[in-house]
Amino acid sequence: MFDYVIVGAGSAGCVLANRLSENPERTVLLLEAGPEDLDPAILEPGKFQSLWFTDVAYRYFTEPQAELEDGRLQPRRGRRVLWPRGRTLGGSSAISSMVYIRGNRRDYDHWNYLGNQGWSWDEVLPYFKRSEDHAGGGDRYHGVGGPMAVSDPSPPHPVSLAFVEAAVESGYPRNPDFNAGEQDGAGILQVNVRDGRRESSATAFLHPVQERENLAVMTHARARRILFDGTRAVGVELDHQAGPFPMLRQVQARREVLLCAGTVDSPKLLMLSGVGPAAHLQSFGLPVVTDLPGVGQNLQDHVCAGVGVTYAPGAKNPPPAAGAVEAALFVRSRANLLASPPDLQLHFCHWLLIEASYPAQPLPPPSGYAFVPTLTRPQSRGSIALASADPSAPPLIEPRYLQARADLDALLEGVLLSRRLAASRHFEPFRGEEVAPGPDVKSESDLRDYVRLVALGLFHPVGTCKMGLDPMAVVDPRLRVRGVDGLRVVDASVMPVIANGNTHAPTVMIAEKASDLILGIDSL
Ligand SMILES: Cc1cc2nc3c(=O)[nH]c(=O)nc-3n(C[C@H](O)[C@H](O)[C@H](O)COP(=O)(O)OP(=O)(O)OC[C@H]3O[C@@H](n4cnc5c(N)ncnc54)[C@H](O)[C@@H]3O)c2cc1C
Repeated sequence: MFDYVIVGAGSAGCVLANRLSENPERTVLLLEAGPEDLDPAILEPGKFQSLWFTDVAYRYFTEPQAELEDGRLQPRRGRRVLWPRGRTLGGSSAISSMVYIRGNRRDYDHWNYLGNQGWSWDEVLPYFKRSEDHAGGGDRYHGVGGPMAVSDPSPPHPVSLAFVEAAVESGYPRNPDFNAGEQDGAGILQVNVRDGRRESSATAFLHPVQERENLAVMTHARARRILFDGTRAVGVELDHQAGPFPMLRQVQARREVLLCAGTVDSPKLLMLSGVGPAAHLQSFGLPVVTDLPGVGQNLQDHVCAGVGVTYAPGAKNPPPAAGAVEAALFVRSRANLLASPPDLQLHFCHWLLIEASYPAQPLPPPSGYAFVPTLTRPQSRGSIALASADPSAPPLIEPRYLQARADLDALLEGVLLSRRLAASRHFEPFRGEEVAPGPDVKSESDLRDYVRLVALGLFHPVGTCKMGLDPMAVVDPRLRVRGVDGLRVVDASVMPVIANGNTHAPTVMIAEKASDLILGIDSL
């Protein structure tokens, strides 16, 4: 019997394991479906893509997306999109591109406006700072001495610098720190890298405290369902693969079960446990503990469509210091969107982040760089649903990318802007040829077609167990699952609206704040 049982050792779960076990009198069990994070490639920033095809990742695919076309199929039909998710200690932060971005201060003020008291920017900033060990020192916006390293790429790659100069020359402000004050403009991104090695949530929060006697970590332990006594969560049933065959086990929680399995698996586990839309659960013969229609709804993800350029023959191309993404530009897709945060984040990538099937007969991937306009405030909303009552079956992932016409319009603007930047004189020493969309794709209708052929999710799904007070909310502002006791969700799935930027830092902040909510040492 443990005081707290945490399901999932990802960005959020490792934070909770650390903070809840600080007091030796509290006992904590951390369950992780995947193996330990022993693969040396995890620590090497440049190898993150190779990890997606190993046993430290789930290779989920979306359902065919009606608005995204597959150019290999005639007539063209909806395309499935790869969704890698981390499956090891550190979760998705062990396979990510390590960009550290908090989002826009107005994101959190909006969460607060939606009824989530305590989540305004001023109230969450201390939790961002608490988690952080900022190489640039501490100030109003940054913390030092926290568990998680945040640093600048050192030195930034010459092509990343060319991107920033191209944007500044085009009239965008230079932004020396996207995590302080305003988000608009171009600059070098901060990254979760310590001494040239990846800083995952596990290396930051878990490994330094793993020897605590009151903290147990069980890998190869996949939760099948949460156990209830009436409507009180009292434990977890799991498959534990300690040897060649999985063993069915149960673990008990004296105080709380804390679900940190991520945006895909947290709603799936809730539904398998009888917490979700009653009719959906009953259609799989699952008993209903509480009817919560919002479980699995409100899925949001950042969607992107890249412009890829090869290097000129002989152009210098050393590997970047901090992985694949070092620079970005935050910008509005329309000049009159002044009241809202920037809705486009142009990631500048050191690889050709282009859908593999474009063009329809793909060539071996050449060496190059990509401008990747990413929609940070998508209007399309999707869902996660059960495909089966079998816990080992992947769920149905339906992000409904570009279903809102405004999303396609904004991405199109991002592609046009990318081309303008790519033509800047600052790229002259590096520029080979544009391979995607390619010089023949010029008209607006061809470019719209192109976006639908190449658009991808940027691995930032959130929102499927949203926090709030309305009937579709799954957790309350203290992250307690509505309608039951002893159960919280603490991960990216609780975001009511997606953060305006990469989602690891906001998820770590959510878990930092959750630990205070759980221990009752917050001001709420
Ligand atoms: C390829 C990729 C690149 C990314 N790049 C960036 C980036 O550069 N910057 C950024 O800010 N964000 C990035 N992200 C997004 C960021 O990593 C996620 O938003 C964040 O990690 C989500 O944290 P989480 O705790 O919600 O879930 P996760 O970190 O995914 O953790 C969930 C954990 O739960 C475990 N689990 C799931 N089901 C079960 C079960 N039934 N039983 C036990 N354990 C279970 C999983 O194995 C996993 O370890 C990236 C994500 C990916 C996948």
